[in-house]
Amino acid sequence: MIAPHGGAIELNTDKQAEHVAKRLAAKGVSCWRCKGWRQGGGALERWHITSTDIHEASFPLLNTIINRHFTYAVAFHGFQENRILIGGGADDALKEEIQLAIQEAIANSIPVEIADASSNYNGDSCKNIVNRLANGNGIQIEQSLEARQTDWQPIADAIASVYNSKI
Ligand SMILES: [Zn+2]
Repeated sequence: MIAPHGGAIELNTDKQAEHVAKRLAAKGVSCWRCKGWRQGGGALERWHITSTDIHEASFPLLNTIINRHFTYAVAFHGFQENRILIGGGADDALKEEIQLAIQEAIANSIPVEIADASSNYNGDSCKNIVNRLANGNGIQIEQSLEARQTDWQPIADAIASVYNSKI
């Protein structure tokens, strides 16, 4: 479970990664977060690094897990759109399962969609850190600010239940 843009970069994404890792602690889940803040605002502009540019050479703690060859990896993110977008290198079946779980968890209050190949947020690059961690089997979840403020925990719980049945 990772949150590369935690702290004030993408609000509550670090809490989501921590929440899922805690819920699945008995199953040996790892959790990596990078958190950034900036006095007076602008943490995103100051600290945001695109997921394809995030490399273990620059993040010592990430370097401790990069070679664990995870079966699954999930990255929690935030974006400006008014929806939740599921992407990543994982197959559609897993994305659909996650889509359903989140829709149920938030009672369809925010649209939950699967990113198509042309989307800027599909997260399917093999260089994306979430895909590198899990040999291509990464899931990237982009979420509106509202989703992260109101529903960060139900969304994280939905992720925890999906993976609880798999690991
Ligand atoms: Zn992000």
